[in-house]
Amino acid sequence: MKDVTAGSDIALSRRVAMATMHGKERVLQASFAAIGVELVTPAAFDTDQFGTFTRDRPRAGTMLDAARAKAQAAMRETGLQAALASEGAYGPHPTIPFLAAGRELLLFIDAAQGFEIVEMTIDEQPTFGHCPAASLADAKAFLERIGFPRQGVIVAPAGRLTEPVAKGIRSLQALEDAISVAAGHSPDRRAHIETDMRAFMNPRRMEVIGALGAQLTARLSAACPHCRHPGWGKVRTDFGLPCSLCGSPTSLPRRDVYGCVSCDQEEYRDRSPGSLADPAYCPLCNP
Ligand SMILES: [Zn+2]
Ligand SMILES: [Zn+2]
Repeated sequence: MKDVTAGSDIALSRRVAMATMHGKERVLQASFAAIGVELVTPAAFDTDQFGTFTRDRPRAGTMLDAARAKAQAAMRETGLQAALASEGAYGPHPTIPFLAAGRELLLFIDAAQGFEIVEMTIDEQPTFGHCPAASLADAKAFLERIGFPRQGVIVAPAGRLTEPVAKGIRSLQALEDAISVAAGHSPDRRAHIETDMRAFMNPRRMEVIGALGAQLTARLSAACPHCRHPGWGKVRTDFGLPCSLCGSPTSLPRRDVYGCVSCDQEEYRDRSPGSLADPAYCPLCNP
């Protein structure tokens, strides 16, 4: 077994509380086992108390706040000194109109050593969407596109989305029944069908969370070149690649910044060394 603390003087927690009740540990376990860390899932852990995707309970604060609250609760529940929590948000793409995007965040807290690591990713091809339907036939194309029944759905009356009639639907019969009940409660006699975004109902989310787990464990096994603390990795991207015509900073990414979770050490890696931005992206040359 590989030692997670290789090259570092800091001893990481070997047992980490996993703040989930949606089976995410299934896609995270292997990456953590590979660095000698065991994920411990508390019995009967209700993460839905921290807000859900299904509009019944709105989420408070930022994604990071929500993940921290879950991680703290998982540590209390298990008595462990470290926790892992995952959080996702889905909606319109931040910069490209009419596209959907998902943000996934994974937070690792080591309370014994007093540090945390946050890994984030944007999924530009999420399984996320909705469709109005008065009958099962109306939803056929939508269901094919999202990969039903591997992908589960939620059904609510159109116009009354905060009152879903069924969640976690994965059979045609259950879906047909839910459409008929929802249409009966809808002011315009239609059901609203949407992708169930809970991870265990959304295979695409599971895949993305698994990849994020591998990213996080890679950071846990990398020590800072300056202070030897574990958790060295990419912390942000700097924008402002210079314009090839006038040299002004543009909106394009310039370099990735690597950093430490414990000291101020930073390292810059140019995205494509020596390259300059097309003046089309320049706020001065092409306002
Ligand atoms: Zn320019
Ligand atoms: Zn450091």
